[in-house]
Amino acid sequence: MLKTDKVERMELYKDPATQVFLSKFLSGEIADLEPVFDYRMGYRYPKVEAIIKDPAEVEPFLNKLYEVGILTRKLHDKIIFCPKCNSTNINVRYCCPLCKSFDIKKSSLVEHVKCGYMDVEDNFLKTDRLICPKCHEELKKLDVDFRRAGVWCTCEECRKSFDIPVAELFCRDCHGSSTFEDVVVKDVYSYSIKDEVKQEAALGLVLIAPIIELFVENGFEVEAPAFLNGKSGANHKFDLVARKGNGAQKVTVIDLTTAGRESVSEQPVIALFAKIFDVAPNCAYLIAIPKISENARRMAELYNIQVVEAENQEEVVGALKSKLLGKQ
Ligand SMILES: [Zn+2]
Ligand SMILES: [Zn+2]
Ligand SMILES: [Zn+2]
Repeated sequence: MLKTDKVERMELYKDPATQVFLSKFLSGEIADLEPVFDYRMGYRYPKVEAIIKDPAEVEPFLNKLYEVGILTRKLHDKIIFCPKCNSTNINVRYCCPLCKSFDIKKSSLVEHVKCGYMDVEDNFLKTDRLICPKCHEELKKLDVDFRRAGVWCTCEECRKSFDIPVAELFCRDCHGSSTFEDVVVKDVYSYSIKDEVKQEAALGLVLIAPIIELFVENGFEVEAPAFLNGKSGANHKFDLVARKGNGAQKVTVIDLTTAGRESVSEQPVIALFAKIFDVAPNCAYLIAIPKISENARRMAELYNIQVVEAENQEEVVGALKSKLLGKQ
């Protein structure tokens, strides 16, 4: 897995819709996400629609989670759309290859073993018995007296016979017919969460939630993620913004960054500094998981950014708590 994928995943874990969706996988409420067929809309994912609200956003949402390596997918079906009206309410019609009529009769070829006569089953049928039209003997036992020698179709329109019909797609909504050449075919997938990202997802999800709780317990109003306007007029995104007090509020901003098994570099420190320079909050925290590099630490000190190093949820909350309460 690419390292940039990991960074993108950590970003997604902070998104509320992703959090709700992934928590359903982690709790076992969803084991495999299977699409449900709806003949007007095609396939849908009701469990995702309950979270995303806008059905048009469901597919891009699942695609994104697949692309960054959170979800795996399996081909579930291929869905056929009418090229004329986009409906999925399509029926396959088997037609006469000669006159293209769909009024064909499917039958089987029957061979009388004893005399070798072969014809369609209908021509052997006399009331409810099979009688050979050539030698007039009754055919009683399958594979002893007679054999079925495959499918045979007769066109009710042109009366021609053939063994393989041609397929035509009939739209039940606009009544238009199309062939394989014209139709739009789309892959439909079922999804599940990758085993190797389960732990990572759990860590990403559980990190932000207890931080929110900690601030709320201490009388802050919290928004996560949050956008703040800077002096320059630019809008800046923070992973969490906490506000306290009436009138002139005390504003705390927090960014969360993770480096897997390595140390967090200067880059997120610089990014956070650029934002706080413009927004001028009272207090800025950078939560670095699992640790921060020496250069980045010095830079953070210089920029008046408080660094919280932590390997897990408990350490984050513990370290933040002592800084928060120590300052009050
Ligand atoms: Zn025909
Ligand atoms: Zn016969
Ligand atoms: Zn149609």
